[in-house]
Amino acid sequence: HAKQAGRGAYQFFNEEMNAAAHERLHLENGLRGALERGELELYYQPKVDIKQRRVVGCEALLRWNHPKLGIVSPVRFIPVAEECGLIVPIGDWALREACRQMLEFQRSSGQNLVVAVNVSALQFTQRNFVDSVRQALDETGLTPQCLELELTESALMKDTDGALDTLKALSDMGVRLAVDDFGTGYSSLSYLKRFPINCLKIDKGFVRDLETDVDDAAIVNAVINLAHSLRLTVVGEGVETEGQLQFLLERGCEEAQGFYFDQPLRAEAFQTVLRNTPPAATA
Ligand code: C2E
Ligand code: MG
Ligand code: MG
Ligand code: MG
Repeated sequence: HAKQAGRGAYQFFNEEMNAAAHERLHLENGLRGALERGELELYYQPKVDIKQRRVVGCEALLRWNHPKLGIVSPVRFIPVAEECGLIVPIGDWALREACRQMLEFQRSSGQNLVVAVNVSALQFTQRNFVDSVRQALDETGLTPQCLELELTESALMKDTDGALDTLKALSDMGVRLAVDDFGTGYSSLSYLKRFPINCLKIDKGFVRDLETDVDDAAIVNAVINLAHSLRLTVVGEGVETEGQLQFLLERGCEEAQGFYFDQPLRAEAFQTVLRNTPPAATA
C-alpha cells in the first residue's frame, strides 16, 4: 500500500514538473521575439518623498503584453529570462526605454525626477554593463543623477571584488545605486559600508505587517537606523496604509512607494499624476 501511494505521489510530482517545464518553455519561446514584436512595456510606480508628500520619481517595472495570455507579470517571466540569458537584451532595452521616457516626463512636468531601473545579477555581471549604462545615458540625454539602478543583495554578493569595481565606475558616472528588497538576502555589512551605495529599499514583506507584527516593526526600524548610520537614504516599498506611512515617517524613512499612493502606471497615467503634483516649493 505504501509502495502504491509512493508511486502515485511520484507520478503526480512528475506531471506537475512536466506542466511547469512546459509553461517555462512556452514562455521562453514567446520571450525570444517579444522585444522585436514590441510586446514589452514599462510601467511606472510613483516614489514619494514622505515628509513633503510629493512625487520625486518612479520605479520602472516591466510588463509583457502577451498576444494570448494578456499582461504577464515580471514575477512570472523575469526568472525565465534570467535562466535563458534573455534578461541581458531585455534589461538593456528596459534601461534605455526608462531613460528615454524619464527625459520626456521631466520635459513635460518641468521637474527633476529620478527613475529607478531594476538590474538582474546576470546583467550586472556582464563585462560591458557599465558601457551599456553610459550608452543609454548618452543616447537619451538623461542626466546620470536622474538614474538609479536597483540591485539585489545576491547580485552584489556574488563576486564582491567585481561588484565593487562596477559600482565605483557607475558611481563616478553620477548614477545613483540602491539595494532592492533589502533584508531578504545575505548582505555583508562590511561590504555595504565599502560599496558606494546611496539607498536601501526595505522589502515590502517587512512593511506589510509592521502595524501588527512586532518583529517586522523591529526589522524595519533596524534597517532605517542601519541605513542612516551608513549615510544611506531609505525607501519603504509596498506601502498600502496610512499607518505604515506614519510608522516610516516617524522613523525618518525618506521615501515610500506602494498602492497607498499608486499602482505601477502606464506612462500616460504617470504623466497625469505628475500634472496633479504641484511644483516644488522653492526654499
Ligand atoms: P521589485 O523591484 O521589488 O518591485 C516592486 C514590486 O512590488 C512590483 O511588482 C510592484 O508592483 C510591487 N508593489 C508596489 N507597491 C506595492 C504594494 O503596495 N503592495 C504590494 N503587494 N506590491 C506592491 P512587479 O511589478 O510585479 O515586479 C516584480 C519584480 O519583478 C520586481 O520586484 C523586480 O524584481 C522584477 N522586475 C520588474 N521589472 C524589472 C526589470 O525591468 N528588470 C529586472 N531585472 N527585474 C524587474
Ligand atoms: Mg525594484
Ligand atoms: Mg523591491
Ligand atoms: Mg523583488
